[in-house]
Amino acid sequence: MGNKNTLAYAQQSDNEDPLKAFRNRFHIPKLNGKEVIYFTGNSLGLQPKNTKTYIEEELDGWATLGVDGHFHSQKRPWFYYHKFSKEALAKIVGALPSEVVSMNSLTTNLHMMMVSFYRPTSSRYKILIEAGAFPSDQYAVESQIKFHNLPYHEALVEIAPKEGEHTLRTEDIVKKIEEHKDSLALVMLSGVQYYTGQFFDIKTITEAGHKAGALVGFDLAHAVGNVPLELHEHQVDFAAWCSYKYLNSGPGGVSGIFVHEKHGNNPDIPRFAGWWGHNEEERFRMEKGFKPMEGADGWQVSNVNVLSSAAHLAALEIYNEAGMEALRKKSLKLTGYLESLLKELENENLLEIITPSDTNSRGCQLSLLVNSNGKAIFEHLTRSGVVADWREPNVIRVAPVPLYNTFEDVFNFYDILKKVIF
Ligand SMILES: *Cc1c(COP(=O)(O)O)cnc(C)c1O
Repeated sequence: MGNKNTLAYAQQSDNEDPLKAFRNRFHIPKLNGKEVIYFTGNSLGLQPKNTKTYIEEELDGWATLGVDGHFHSQKRPWFYYHKFSKEALAKIVGALPSEVVSMNSLTTNLHMMMVSFYRPTSSRYKILIEAGAFPSDQYAVESQIKFHNLPYHEALVEIAPKEGEHTLRTEDIVKKIEEHKDSLALVMLSGVQYYTGQFFDIKTITEAGHKAGALVGFDLAHAVGNVPLELHEHQVDFAAWCSYKYLNSGPGGVSGIFVHEKHGNNPDIPRFAGWWGHNEEERFRMEKGFKPMEGADGWQVSNVNVLSSAAHLAALEIYNEAGMEALRKKSLKLTGYLESLLKELENENLLEIITPSDTNSRGCQLSLLVNSNGKAIFEHLTRSGVVADWREPNVIRVAPVPLYNTFEDVFNFYDILKKVIF
């Protein structure tokens, strides 16, 4: 094919895209009657067209059956609702179905996981996180440390990029873990860092954490549905994610957790329990004495938020059809295309791509550091129908999502940006 810097090249790439039909499964927002260039699937994924049907089915069940919907709702009895997402989620995160369950919201689940897997002792009490972690994660970790009456600044270990660099080197993470090996209780990093888009080396980090005698968990908010994951194989202890970013399950959508089977079948692990984690057969006997279900299910607390979970199932159905492998394949091409176009602007020192150029170390997002007039450039993009996101002090994050973004989106974005940035 010809010159990459042309609309014709982008359109031809779209024609050759085996996943191109999936865009039509989503509602695409418009500005002045024209579909926007939606590059914020990393913040709130678009609405699948089948979401409404799934939710309406549950509303109908509720309207016609009332409480009987728990067992007799036509398609998906509510009592078992958390089970319907297992197969799809297990594929997406590389887990056994019994190791995953959808429940609660993300920050709540980080707390639930830390209650079980951050169990500090007088000698082993530190948590390692990345400096500049998403604020909610920072607050969760801070409050967990304080909950255990530990000195916050001593118990919190943060790892920052080297001077003059934007992302973390795996060998530096490993070194940091080794430095604290006698006192480290937990390593809890992102899978994909929200600000830089860096995809961490989960396997190596998990091995290093275990070698140091710590447990290792990941916040997969920006990784789930974006990059290939092998949580079971890589022996990750636990993980949590949200479903409203790449998983397109709607604002505030239900979160999910992974608990490795080496922990999942151990009823003696302390947890904050509720009736939905209790042995399913006996749940309605309303008796004393908590007996956790096996697997991740034993961490459930409350009965399922059915309306939110219906939206989740609708979106997962689409994921299942497309398949993570095919999505990743397209994602590498789409983001690679964006990168190749932006290189031209980078060579002119108009911006800097701070996301790693190594494709094994990133998902679909590129974070663009714009040194001068960043905010004004961002506002121009917005007026021109680009939905991207601005992070203080000077970063524009753009995430071409393989399920619904096109090569034409990427070209048009570059074209708009080029005209305003030069
Ligand atoms: C999006 C995101 C959150 C959001 O947390 P909620 O509890 O769903 O509001 C938390 N952590 C990270 C890393 C995120 O990217």
